[in-house]
Amino acid sequence: MDTVKYLLDESRIPKNWYNIAADLPKPPPPVLHPGTGQPVGPADLEPLFPMELILQEVSAEREIQIPEPVREIYKQWRPSPLHRARRLEKALGTTAKIYYKYEGVSPAGSHKPNTSIPQAFYNKAAGVKKLTTETGAGQWGSSLAFAGAVFGLPVDVYMVKISYQQKPYRRALMETYGARCVASPSEETNAGRTILKANPNSTGSLGIAISEAVEMAAQDPNTKYALGSVLNHVLMHQSVIGLEAIAQMEMAGDDPDIVIGCAGGGSNFAGIAFPFLGQNFRGGKKRQIVAVEPAACPTMTRGKYAYDFGDTGHLTPLVKMHTLGSTFMPAGIHAGGLRYHGMAPMVSHLLELGAISPEAYNQTECFEAAVTFARAEGIVPAPESSHAIKSAVAHALKAKAEGKSPTILFCLSGHGHFDMAAYTDYFAGKLVDAPYDQKALDKALSELPKVAAE
Ligand SMILES: *Cc1c(COP(=O)(O)O)cnc(C)c1O
Repeated sequence: MDTVKYLLDESRIPKNWYNIAADLPKPPPPVLHPGTGQPVGPADLEPLFPMELILQEVSAEREIQIPEPVREIYKQWRPSPLHRARRLEKALGTTAKIYYKYEGVSPAGSHKPNTSIPQAFYNKAAGVKKLTTETGAGQWGSSLAFAGAVFGLPVDVYMVKISYQQKPYRRALMETYGARCVASPSEETNAGRTILKANPNSTGSLGIAISEAVEMAAQDPNTKYALGSVLNHVLMHQSVIGLEAIAQMEMAGDDPDIVIGCAGGGSNFAGIAFPFLGQNFRGGKKRQIVAVEPAACPTMTRGKYAYDFGDTGHLTPLVKMHTLGSTFMPAGIHAGGLRYHGMAPMVSHLLELGAISPEAYNQTECFEAAVTFARAEGIVPAPESSHAIKSAVAHALKAKAEGKSPTILFCLSGHGHFDMAAYTDYFAGKLVDAPYDQKALDKALSELPKVAAE
């Protein structure tokens, strides 16, 4: 058979999210208050998040029940399909078996609605009247806009200015869902005005947009903030990906030796990998768990494991993570969703423990792999997802060279239908590899906050 698709019925949408905190060999370092340097408590986070999400953020329970209204909405695109990439295997002539879990079937076209829906649900239940957020390439903004439309919650999205100008269709999608989209840095916030005063031509960054969205939420008791990656509760909501994949790999009569996800803030990677990693920790089969990042924004492979701010304006708590420094400006690569200076603290902790292997690739080799994939499997991947594909292809070719036949599973985090301009540039030979600037990195790292606890 040429294509094989493993589908679960609706009744097999997970009833609980999986929380890896319950299975860690060692607890992660605490989150610190930027003023006092002391660990933050739930009350410190209350201006930004509803209590239900704060409790999930600090929970050590292995399973947290998915509210029934959230499961009902998940049914629109979950369980998502798992495919055996037979035609890709053939195109590569590999002895490896390749499977992918496809998250591009959600309304917004990526894994992000897996968390935007529960986040909007808990905010609505807590009586919140408005949500603010930031978005880079626009996937998170459109996913939260969709969730806002579902629950009747207004959403203000601060969109990195360069993307606002270059990706008008993602903006149009957010507006179609009813969200308000503002180019960041903007004149609406202190954080935005400060940046614009220093540099009127600033094209923005995720770190700046986060500052703007956090500032707006912090000053209005009826407004809260939603983050699309990085935080523990976000990673946990994404565990539906891996929980379903475990059941689907069983249906396929197979078991992955290598599990791969691309990593910007780390949420789709955690989603596919943590349920498998939990099995590793609980004494199950040992698998290789791979997180893939762009060489132009090499947080895990070149960053420092240190306390840092999540944003440029330094409004967020301090978290210990692999970071390039909150002032680092990654080159303008097309995988906008992977251009974040930090990495989820939970992913960083697991990297420190040696439980996961990081890899970094340049964007042209990722686009090459994406095109090979599209021609074999028919799905045009998001530029972010192409990093996972590149890694899967590299592992499959290595297996062929070594005469081995591992089973590879990767997360195809989204489709690239809103990124076709990037493909056009690639075919025109206009895409260049943008290596990170070592001097700029050294400078950003020298500006990391000094933390007594270290
Ligand atoms: C946002 C996004 C990513 C990166 O975010 P993570 O939190 O690291 O998953 C990857 N792929 C797609 C398609 C995205 O939209």
